[in-house]
Amino acid sequence: MSDFSTLKLRTDLLGNLDSLGYRSMTPIQAASLPIVLSGQDLIAQAKTGSGKTAAFGLGVLHKLDVSRFRIQALVLCPTRELADQVAQELRKLARAIHNIKILSLCGGTPIGPQIGSLEHGAHIIVGTPGRVADHLRKRTLSLADVETLVLDEADRMLDMGFQEVLDDIIAEMPAQRQTLLFSATYPDEIQAIAGRVMRDPERVEVDTSQ
Ligand code: ADP
Ligand code: MG
Repeated sequence: MSDFSTLKLRTDLLGNLDSLGYRSMTPIQAASLPIVLSGQDLIAQAKTGSGKTAAFGLGVLHKLDVSRFRIQALVLCPTRELADQVAQELRKLARAIHNIKILSLCGGTPIGPQIGSLEHGAHIIVGTPGRVADHLRKRTLSLADVETLVLDEADRMLDMGFQEVLDDIIAEMPAQRQTLLFSATYPDEIQAIAGRVMRDPERVEVDTSQ
C-alpha cells in the first residue's frame, strides 16, 4: 500500500495510483493534498518536475461527480505544451473513473472542433487563458458550474501578460469555489492576484531551488 492511502481518497483513485507505480507522495503532494482535499484555497510553490499535477489533480478527481455532466473544474496553464502535459497526466490519474471527459482548449489549433467537443460536454477543461477567453466571448463555454479553479504555473501566466484575461475568465465563475494556485516563484504579482481571487488561502512551499 502506498502512503497515498493515508489520505481519505476515493478507493478507485488509490487503486489506480498503485497500478501507476506511484508508491509514495512527492513532498509537494504530501504538503498540498490534505489542504486540497479539505476544500481550502491553496498557494503552492515547488519546482518543475515535483509532481504538482497530481497535487491538484487528485483533489479535483476526488470531488468530481461524473454523473453530473457539467464542467466542474478549470485548469489554466501558460502554454499549449504545458496544458497538453497536464491533460495527459490527469487522464492517467483518472483512468479508474469511467466515462470521465477531460477536454483541452488551447490556442494554435482550430476553434471549430473545440466548439463541437464543448457541445458534447466535459467534466474538466484544461486550457490556455487566451483560448478559454475566446470561448467565453463566443458563449460556446459556460463556467457557471465550476467548483475548482487551478492556476498552474501562475507566475509564467502573469509574466506572459495574462493578468487581465485571467480576471475576465474568473469573473465568469461562481464566487463559491475552490482556487488552487501553483507557481515556481512567489512575486508580488502572485500575491496581488491571490488577494483578488482567493479566499483565505493556505500557503505551502517545498524545495523551490531550481
Ligand atoms: P510538475 O508539474 O511539478 O512539473 P508533474 O506533475 O508534471 O510535475 O510530474 C512530473 C512527473 O512525475 C510526471 O511524469 C508524473 O507522472 C511523475 N509523478 C508525479 N507524482 C508521482 C509520484 N507520487 N510517484 C511517482 N511518479 C510521480
Ligand atoms: Mg506542471
